[in-house]
Amino acid sequence: MIIKNGLVLRPDGSAQTLDIRIERGRITELGALGDRSDDQILDARDRLIAPGLVNTHCHSNENYFKGCFDNLPLELWLLFSYPVLSAPRQSAREIYVRTMLGCIEMLRSGCTTVVDFLYEMPETTPESVTAVLQAYRDSGMRVLLIVGYSDKVYYETTPMAMEMLTPELKERMDREPLPTPEESLQLVDALRERWHGLDNRIAIGLGPSGPQRCSDRELEMTAEYAARHDLRIHIHTLETKMQAYTGRLYWGKTIIEHLHDLNFLSPRVSLNHAIWLTERDIDLVAESGATATHNLLSNFKLGSGISPVPEMLARGINISLGTDGKSSNDSQDMYEVVKTVALLHKTQQPEFERWLGAPESWHMGTLGGAQSIGLHDELGRIEVGQRADLVLFDRNTIPFTPLNNPLHQLVYCLPSSTVRTVLVEGEIAVDDGRMARVDEVELLREGNELGRAFVERSGATFEISRKIFPAVAAGYRHAVAQDVGVRRHIGNEV
Ligand SMILES: [Zn+2]
Repeated sequence: MIIKNGLVLRPDGSAQTLDIRIERGRITELGALGDRSDDQILDARDRLIAPGLVNTHCHSNENYFKGCFDNLPLELWLLFSYPVLSAPRQSAREIYVRTMLGCIEMLRSGCTTVVDFLYEMPETTPESVTAVLQAYRDSGMRVLLIVGYSDKVYYETTPMAMEMLTPELKERMDREPLPTPEESLQLVDALRERWHGLDNRIAIGLGPSGPQRCSDRELEMTAEYAARHDLRIHIHTLETKMQAYTGRLYWGKTIIEHLHDLNFLSPRVSLNHAIWLTERDIDLVAESGATATHNLLSNFKLGSGISPVPEMLARGINISLGTDGKSSNDSQDMYEVVKTVALLHKTQQPEFERWLGAPESWHMGTLGGAQSIGLHDELGRIEVGQRADLVLFDRNTIPFTPLNNPLHQLVYCLPSSTVRTVLVEGEIAVDDGRMARVDEVELLREGNELGRAFVERSGATFEISRKIFPAVAAGYRHAVAQDVGVRRHIGNEV
């Protein structure tokens, strides 16, 4: 295929009118190119062409919860989004359509790669993951599917007022089946053999849910397995002040120190959220080569705080961006994230010469993301040899009129509604603003029906969650009043 006469965003942030030749999923030539007789030609005269964004943190299992919750901090929000008891199961079709809603939203807004940290309720099975991956495959999107797991009983994962929990509820929590580390890794192993590397677009990774939710043994086995099979690990780390307090309570040290002492940290690890870090924690993460995924819109909605991104960047830590799931950031538009990241950190210090802006945010949304998933030499730039994950925007639109600075306008002018064509691995996934490979209208109709039915079906489960709520709320209020050794003002202070 040859894309002709597009205005191409270059790695240095400039834009140039160029033709792009794509062969076997890669960019093989850039410049003023002649046509070959067998070329499929895509006319891009009115298009701005940019690399697809990489969303390094979301949970497709939350997709039916869009618009459901507000004004709940993470630990209380979890009771509804990830019910501890009696979570209703979803059919393979419900899971498939649910996943496809995310694919449609992301691809159509210019995101070509997603890290889907899948935490299926009440349990993850080979069949449930198959339904998810079939949707990604059918949509044409690139995915790193992180298999989420944990092996600790709920009330040992978060400090709560146990005296407020009835013996009946505690007993029910004790009876909830928990996969052992062996069982979770067996599942990962089976999925890896079947799916990893398929279509050059699907990868499997490991998702110990959070250090406070997993035994030391589970974390050690995860790190060892990932090293042996060269896989990525994503793990929720220090998302809230309550988690920072948990580390000190459980191990007498910070959660990062705990991970460091277990030899868990490495360049294959991405720490999701990474907000409540001490100065020493930041040093340890920098030494390890791990990535931090920055999911600020979710952090806003759950009142979690603000990640010390400028401090981490200054120490050389790779930062990538994520939307997080639809239950905590009801939109999955990565351009909204890129814009907010470019703006937010200016408010954190008066020294304007050290502010982050459009180029830094763009880097995190593209190359930072590519590094988080282990494709740092292959994604995030339009260059010969790179994978052809490209987004073509209509330039005859408000976000690009007048066209003064393409990079700034991509970051600040919310261009997602102007996406016309999306290619992933050189194949068209969005054509003329519509999903090219699936019936979007029919999927939205079905998604509305299935999603509404699922939320209604969750009503009885939410009743149980409301009974657990007061014990967790008391634990939350206690935790956020503690000193956790973090000296920045980043929210949750009382
Ligand atoms: Zn998450």
